[in-house]
Amino acid sequence: MRIIAVMNQKGGVGKTTTSVNLAAGLSKMGKRVCVVDLDPQAHASLHLGVEILGNETTIYNVFTGEKKMADSRRLVAPNLWLTPSSLDLAGTELELVDTVGRELILRDAINEMVATHPFDYMIMDCPPSLGVLTINALSAAGEVFIPLQPHFLALHGLSKLFETTALVTRRLNRNLRVSGIVLCLYETGTRLAEDVAQDLSLFLKQSDPEAPWYNARIFQSRIRRNIKLAEAPSFGQSIFDYASKCPGAQDYGMLAEEVEGLAATRQAPLSKAG
Ligand code: ADP
Ligand code: MG
Repeated sequence: MRIIAVMNQKGGVGKTTTSVNLAAGLSKMGKRVCVVDLDPQAHASLHLGVEILGNETTIYNVFTGEKKMADSRRLVAPNLWLTPSSLDLAGTELELVDTVGRELILRDAINEMVATHPFDYMIMDCPPSLGVLTINALSAAGEVFIPLQPHFLALHGLSKLFETTALVTRRLNRNLRVSGIVLCLYETGTRLAEDVAQDLSLFLKQSDPEAPWYNARIFQSRIRRNIKLAEAPSFGQSIFDYASKCPGAQDYGMLAEEVEGLAATRQAPLSKAG
């Protein structure tokens, strides 16, 4: 099982769009996927057609310890599950302030769930902050994907984000790696986007080989700016159900294949040895 945190403390860079459509793409390839919505704004839940109005179980109840993760997940499409979020989650930071081990609540909940309900992928859509919810995601994850909008300030703020992953690697989760960077809202035909990609690739190559981001790859699949991707959430549909032939569906379909291919390369040495 791969547990991926889709993270960037900036809002509007494509975290939710990527979490939902990558998950949908993988599920259509036959993988069992669970999306964990960790943003109190619940955009990923809405994008998958789930709106929490009453007192249904959400990830908030998992953080407070009232419910198990398996009780909060629901099937939203073939092979695709969601653990929804709700606005209550906005209070978690304060509510957990005195809780010992609050950084590890999600990791424990996931471990308990997958013992009986296994998945191929868990994809966590993080909120736009580096608070306790994001730290929980990083403590539970094996990998971090960073969606990035390639404009001239894109790399600004990345150092803070990398520092946070390094801190979590040292203190909470030694296995965590930044494995991929997804260029979102990509403008084809501009030099700027390619320049940002090159700067970033140079930065990664020159990093400390011990850094959790040293082996990060910039995915070849660039997610072009495509209006259908912005429309799909209001219909509660992934891009594949909303407009299966549009450029957005092509780009996320390619990304899903690339991510799955990365699994093959990551697992190759293991299968040789075993
Ligand atoms: P985040 O979760 O990082 O805040 P979102 O995924 O919600 O970012 O994206 C921000 C906004 O941009 C949303 O309205 C989304 O529909 C839109 N959007 C994201 N990616 C694209 C794209 N490739 N083309 C067009 N609109 C996009
Ligand atoms: Mg979001």
